[in-house]
Amino acid sequence: MNLKELSSLKVLENNLGSSTGTNWFAAGAKINSYSPTNGQYIGSVISTTKEEYEQVITEAEKAKLIWRDIPAPKRGEIVRQLGEKLRQEKDTLGKLVSYEMGKSYQEGLGEVQEMIDICDFAVGLSRQLYGNTIHSERPGHRMYDQYHPLGLVGIITAFNFPVAVWAWNAALALVCGDVIIWKPSEKTPLCAVACQNIIAEILKENNLPEGISSIVTGDAEVGKWISEDERIALVSATGSTRMGKQVAETVAKRLGKTLLELGGNNAIIVTPSADLKMTIIGAVFGAVGTAGQRCTSTRRLIVHESVYNKVKDSLIEAYKQIKIGDPLDSNNHMGPLIDKAAVQMYLDALGKIQEQGGKILVEGKVLEGEGYESGCYVTPVIAEVENHYPIVQHETFAPILYLIKYTGEVQNAIALQNDVRQGLSSAIMTTNLREAELFLSQNGSDCGIANVNIGTSGAEIGGAFGGEKETGGGRESGSDAWKAYMRRQTNTINYTTSLPLAQGIKFNL
Ligand code: NAD
Repeated sequence: MNLKELSSLKVLENNLGSSTGTNWFAAGAKINSYSPTNGQYIGSVISTTKEEYEQVITEAEKAKLIWRDIPAPKRGEIVRQLGEKLRQEKDTLGKLVSYEMGKSYQEGLGEVQEMIDICDFAVGLSRQLYGNTIHSERPGHRMYDQYHPLGLVGIITAFNFPVAVWAWNAALALVCGDVIIWKPSEKTPLCAVACQNIIAEILKENNLPEGISSIVTGDAEVGKWISEDERIALVSATGSTRMGKQVAETVAKRLGKTLLELGGNNAIIVTPSADLKMTIIGAVFGAVGTAGQRCTSTRRLIVHESVYNKVKDSLIEAYKQIKIGDPLDSNNHMGPLIDKAAVQMYLDALGKIQEQGGKILVEGKVLEGEGYESGCYVTPVIAEVENHYPIVQHETFAPILYLIKYTGEVQNAIALQNDVRQGLSSAIMTTNLREAELFLSQNGSDCGIANVNIGTSGAEIGGAFGGEKETGGGRESGSDAWKAYMRRQTNTINYTTSLPLAQGIKFNL
């Protein structure tokens, strides 16, 4: 990777830290960013100090008053410009995502495309922030509800979608009239700096205050400042369930709002009538794509006994063809894990699978030698297990696919699928209409996302994205997810000369 290619994103300048738009602070500790693709140093950012954090929030509070007064379609115009700028920078930003996070270049481009798509969606939405009109029970009265901006929205994001998750939140929050403060993952800080540079330029060109979109950098400590801060109306947090529980507790203590997008433990059910060619493509992409580091990655395959051996053999065969290496080389299917700590978690999980009675079908190892100098490349694993093993119940953020056999009716497979604490994405491969409909019914999948004849991995921006149970219950992106970024107000207007009370109550004076 030639780092000069990143120059338009201005991420390699030194001393980048927290920022209200273009005004960068730089007094805190240094966070160095190394590429998991080759172990090379890319650049560094400076952690936000508490004092700088206060300055960022002060600027955001000032900007809030200006931004919420701008008509929503005009706010949409700013988001349109963000989408345009992202189109221009798609290639460069996609490369940076791939280089800093380690996902394939195609997936890096896909992530930027998601940013562009959500901007387009938000532009349309800026003219559709509808409330209802309601028929009043009192004569000469009119009732309606309307949505107002919340104010300050804190966005805490994970390393695995270092730019798209910010955009999902930012585009909607901005058209809703909120100002945003982003705390990106400390593992991918340069991607965040690149996005901040892009939006800061747009704000400047439009003579808008920089505090409309800010960034604070650092580790969990900076995230905690956001959770504790009563000035921040909504904390949208994406990451592990462990993190989400801490954020939820802290924000609930001050009765603030949260939008939580946490871990998954996603399964594909493979029924006797499944199209096995589609099943194998969906399962392999779901388990191996992004090296198993997607919240929607396929972790479990719950396969009917009648097709179990066939699925198992085909998967083993498919795994032999997976090419592992530099994600910027399009010949490779799988890149590295994010860092050596992730490699250690993968190795620990492999030990636990065997301790708990699992059988490894495709062995896992850490790759060494030329091209693997970063120490972050591992091979994808397939293991035969039972659903109740503690390691299977837990989300391991690595390319480990569990094979689980079911017998009898599809209800048995659905029960296994639901018998985990997470509830993000799920899928069934079937050509049987009854099975498909049961899976989608109230007696079917308990996940936020339930697909038929598609894998678990990935989603379109048009639908609401998120999951139930320990996944946190939040919804982002499409459909009516925007409502989380606004406060609802019910209005009743009396246009008569008398004051009738509701429910026929009389109050004679
Ligand atoms: P993580 O929980 O370690 O960190 C996520 C973010 O939270 C980081 O910015 C981190 O600094 C911050 N953080 C950590 N502890 C905090 C605390 N106590 N208070 C405030 N902030 C805190 O997660 P990760 O390793 O970066 O990402 C992987 C996890 O994210 C996986 O579990 C994955 O499933 C999940 N994820 C979920 C979704 C979704 O939409 N459901 C999307 C992407 C990733």
